[in-house]
Amino acid sequence: MKAIRRFTVRPVLPAPLAPLAELARNLRWSWHAATRDLFRDVDPVLWDADGDPVRLLGSVPPARLAELAADDDFVRRLGECAADLRAYVTGPRWYQEHQDRQDRQEHPEGRERRDSRSAASDGALPAAVAYFSPEFGITAALPQYSGGLGILAGDHLKAASDLGVPLIGVGLLYRHGYFRQSLTRDGWQQEHYPVLDPNELPLTLLREPDGTPALVRLALPGHRALRAHVWQAQVGRVPLLLLDSDVEENDPGAREVTDRLYGGGSEHRLLQEMLLGIGGVRAVRAYCRLTGHPEPEVFHTNEGHAGFLGLERVHERVQGGLAFDAALEAVRAGTVFTTHTPVPAGIDRFDRELVAHHFGPEAELPHIDVELILRLGMETYPGGEPNLFNMAVMGLRLARGANGVSTLHGRVSREMFQGLWPGFDPEEVPITSVTNGVHAPTWVAPEVFRCGAGRIGAGRTDQALSVGDDERWDAVAGIPDGDIWLLRRELRAQLVYEVRRRLHVSWRQRGAATAELGWIDEVLDPDVLTIGFARRVPAYKRLTLMLRDRDRLMELLTHPDRPVQIVVAGKAHPADDGGKRLIQDLVRFTDDPRVRHRVVFLPDYGMAMARKLYAGCDVWLNNPLRPLEACGTSGMKAALNGCLNLSVLDGWWDEWFEPDFGWAIPTADGAATDEHRRDDLEAAALYDLLERRVAPRFYEHGPEGLPDRWIEMVRRTLTRLGPKVLAGRMVREYVERLYAPAARAHRMLDADAATALAAWKSRVRAAWPRVAVDHVETAATAATVATAALGTTAELGATVALRVRVRLGELTPDDVEVQALAGRVDPEDHITDATPVPLKPTSGPDAEGALLYEGPLTLDRTGPFGYTVRVLPAHRLLSDSTELGLVALPTETTGEAAGVLMR
Ligand SMILES: *Cc1c(COP(=O)(O)O)cnc(C)c1O
Repeated sequence: MKAIRRFTVRPVLPAPLAPLAELARNLRWSWHAATRDLFRDVDPVLWDADGDPVRLLGSVPPARLAELAADDDFVRRLGECAADLRAYVTGPRWYQEHQDRQDRQEHPEGRERRDSRSAASDGALPAAVAYFSPEFGITAALPQYSGGLGILAGDHLKAASDLGVPLIGVGLLYRHGYFRQSLTRDGWQQEHYPVLDPNELPLTLLREPDGTPALVRLALPGHRALRAHVWQAQVGRVPLLLLDSDVEENDPGAREVTDRLYGGGSEHRLLQEMLLGIGGVRAVRAYCRLTGHPEPEVFHTNEGHAGFLGLERVHERVQGGLAFDAALEAVRAGTVFTTHTPVPAGIDRFDRELVAHHFGPEAELPHIDVELILRLGMETYPGGEPNLFNMAVMGLRLARGANGVSTLHGRVSREMFQGLWPGFDPEEVPITSVTNGVHAPTWVAPEVFRCGAGRIGAGRTDQALSVGDDERWDAVAGIPDGDIWLLRRELRAQLVYEVRRRLHVSWRQRGAATAELGWIDEVLDPDVLTIGFARRVPAYKRLTLMLRDRDRLMELLTHPDRPVQIVVAGKAHPADDGGKRLIQDLVRFTDDPRVRHRVVFLPDYGMAMARKLYAGCDVWLNNPLRPLEACGTSGMKAALNGCLNLSVLDGWWDEWFEPDFGWAIPTADGAATDEHRRDDLEAAALYDLLERRVAPRFYEHGPEGLPDRWIEMVRRTLTRLGPKVLAGRMVREYVERLYAPAARAHRMLDADAATALAAWKSRVRAAWPRVAVDHVETAATAATVATAALGTTAELGATVALRVRVRLGELTPDDVEVQALAGRVDPEDHITDATPVPLKPTSGPDAEGALLYEGPLTLDRTGPFGYTVRVLPAHRLLSDSTELGLVALPTETTGEAAGVLMR
């Protein structure tokens, strides 16, 4: 029988247990071991079933609660955890200390300490930062993520909390979250969308002082409205606001806007993104108004989906009387955009018409001309689609700071978006990179934590994991081989049991009877080299590369002395039948009775499974098509548990690979090979590595009977790679390299400065077509260089005097910088490592309006050397001289006439 109404009955906790409710509401329990232990002890069976404190407290029988209330030891531990949480949430942390340090530098005469929440409007660090993301993976108990992007966002919030960064997270609450995966008998992915009731999740509704729910409202075309409630999750110190359109005042279409993550067609996606970006800013405003939290000075959009947050803030200022261009300058100053994918399909693009329809006088942001909005998302570069509105392009145009998520991905992104900065080399495109990290307290297995705590104490281990501190990590180096090996075996054995349990559940779902499943008790072996591969299943990740030569794989799995075993998991996007076929291929292979004890596919990859998997594997495999994996984070989580990586040199592994940490799978990218041949080559390289390098090292035992060389790699992975891969390191980089400069720019660009900057830009843009480099000439100033020889050879250390004639049209020398760029040249005469040298105006303008610029150029390198000159716009409030995308370069004839190149 179906219920016509449901409600949630909350448990009444006996008074001594009241702090349990407080601990359950703050998601810090998800990474705080002592609090997790406490919840487990409430009811180990219920806890192990789903690890969700809210649900646990809702299901424990009152008799058990009474028993616990009388248990002095439990009540004491509860008190300690509650006190620890309060101290964690209120005390000063890295950010506050960092702020103090900066204050002391700026005001050495001394000043009183700030408390952690006071607005730091004159300090260097932002008073608050709003962090927007379409998904957040914080715990399996709040299933609002599909994969890496969401988990990264969750790790960002947790690390920000540990560091004391005053972040506000903003996202959507999907009533069905992402799908749960199961398999049919023949291995085809099935999707299920369980209904999530926010009342049963660790969320509280944001309310107005009169008790009514705070309401965010967006105008839709056709006099409709999209309304949303705001739910708040508490992630340690960081509030996470989730907008929920499933409210009674909405019409049925509007109610469904937040139904599921990455579902639906274009219009549905657009509405989700408008709610996230525009509604998200309104939710932040409401939150600050209702709680007194300082207003964010910096807005960070995690991938382009939330990009409308910039437009909403422009609209706020336009409503306040500022012109659009000036508002854009002011907003841009405080905006940070992170791009996460070099795969075009990963970038949202909408039909221009669809966007136009949803903005303007009859819809959202009525005070901004729709044409101005459209222009921000246009792909105005060669190969761009004139009829598409690109969210990443808008993200870049609306942000002062932009970054990719690994060094390699930064480079790839600069090339990918180079068209937005015509006239500049890819190296100059203003997209930097901050390599992702992972939140160690979430991803390090308790057994590994205890091992570290045994050496240096729990508090310092905690510090080392959350903040990152190389010295503390060195302590692990002293752990004896035998202990490391015991730890690895314990983790592997736990994984083996977990795999059998999950496989059993999966086969029951696939329709098997328990009696047929006796073989599952023999699946995997706690002493066999264990390889893990788990991730979403887009084509570029190549789930089935390992199946390229099935016979060879079978030999590896069933090798008499050095077998390997493989655990695979992953979800295909519901609309991706290609991905589902890959899963089916793999599942059918794992069903083969000859290998099913050595290779398994586990359905429903998610955070709960991931924690066991990363810790229990010996080797983490990653074989994407290079360079399409922007960063990849699962291998980092594995490394933090002493698992070695075996991966294509892509994303983070390209940056930090060392032979001590694992193996690099050679790739055939760049070679003129077709895709099939490339797969063949890379798969063959993978089998070779496994057979000749990985397995022998694992099974080779030293004099003590232990695999010494393997253990040494585990140790080095923990001590030397560990501190790099931390989310704490990542968030500190964001604060120092992106948030702090954005906050400073934001403060400088008040209404007047923004108006002046916008006017200046518009003047420079209009005048730029008449800016030109007319003539370049050189004269050797050092006697060692014969003038006649100049143009072909010169001696190291010689100085060349450059004289450049430029025309500035209506601009003055104050508006520009004239630079020489010098460096090594490649065979195509391309300067490969250009260093800019500013030149000084020495005379002019002459009768023809030309100015002379001069400066010395030192030939400080041997070999082919070249230089060129250019004119760039210059203004003290520009973030970067590439900002306007304007540059004047010598024409072919100017260069040749002056003999610009010397070889
Ligand atoms: C870390 C993680 C991912 C992302 O892993 P990649 O290596 O970036 O593919 C995906 N899903 C879950 C559950 C994770 O924990």
